[in-house]
Amino acid sequence: MKSLIINTCNQLSELGVITALLPEAIPIFMLHRVSNEQDTFGGTPVKFLEQCLAYLRHHRYKVLTLDECHNLLISGEKIPRKVAVFTIDDGFIDHYTNAGSVFSHFKMPLNFFLISDFIDRKLWPWDDQIHVAINDTARQEIRLTLPDKTEFLNLKSKSSTNEITRNLRDLLKSQDQTNLYSWISEYLFPELGLSLGNNIHHNYQPMSWDNAQELHNAGHGVYAHTCTHRILSQLPSAIAAQEIQDSIARVNEKLGCSQRYFVYPTGRLCDYNDNNKMTLSENGIKMAFNTEPTYATKKMGIYDVPRFSLPNTMPNFIQYLAKFEQAKEQIRKVLFT
Ligand SMILES: [Zn+2]
Repeated sequence: MKSLIINTCNQLSELGVITALLPEAIPIFMLHRVSNEQDTFGGTPVKFLEQCLAYLRHHRYKVLTLDECHNLLISGEKIPRKVAVFTIDDGFIDHYTNAGSVFSHFKMPLNFFLISDFIDRKLWPWDDQIHVAINDTARQEIRLTLPDKTEFLNLKSKSSTNEITRNLRDLLKSQDQTNLYSWISEYLFPELGLSLGNNIHHNYQPMSWDNAQELHNAGHGVYAHTCTHRILSQLPSAIAAQEIQDSIARVNEKLGCSQRYFVYPTGRLCDYNDNNKMTLSENGIKMAFNTEPTYATKKMGIYDVPRFSLPNTMPNFIQYLAKFEQAKEQIRKVLFT
């Protein structure tokens, strides 16, 4: 029954019946990892991504560049009904080999946000390091003292690796992250009977600057996503400013041009603040994205542009495109307020 309603609404929306009643809005999607059959890290299958882009092409959607998206959000110009934007954060190698090649094949722009120290191979993302530590440890009892000196205790007999990883990450997200990388390498790994080592884990390899340059030359967007992926609101303001400035400068230097867009690490509203937005503006950034799952409209702040995670089924993807999500929101407001 539910799928019948969704399908009917999607069809009505396709005809413009629902969207005509809605405020103008752009669905902006974020991808995470993109995998082919040989990859072992999970993520969105290349085949599904191809299906999504084939749907867009068949139904004559325009996939916007960020310049086009920015212009629509700040100008008086009407936002066309059939538009979408795609972004992908961090800079993993599969973003280049898998995601980039699918978008290039369809001649649609994808926007890459790079952790600059990751592309420089100085580190790999702390959130992935946590996952590897919890997954690889033989300890059944994960007993830790967190950077803020509070105690953490989870048991592998009671919770899955993913649950423990999530619990630990969530706590680390809410405390000062200045020394997070050294806490992981000097305390967490040894405490769990492991060694982090100097090499980047095989499942978490970055693309190279040459890959980034190639994507840029092919018409994709390539932008900064901080140097280290630490959460900006959990850093002293001078370090947060440095994360923004240095990553933008590094991407500009490597690509030989000035970048205008940015994504906040983790991207919840509590993960960045007005100071960070000011620093972005001072560094030539015109628009920044968070991870609030809603549509981008002309009414919202240009440094608080929201994004949906790319859904993992076609009906859900179509539902987001058709703005049925927004229709439900509108209907709920009418009925319950
Ligand atoms: Zn990220």
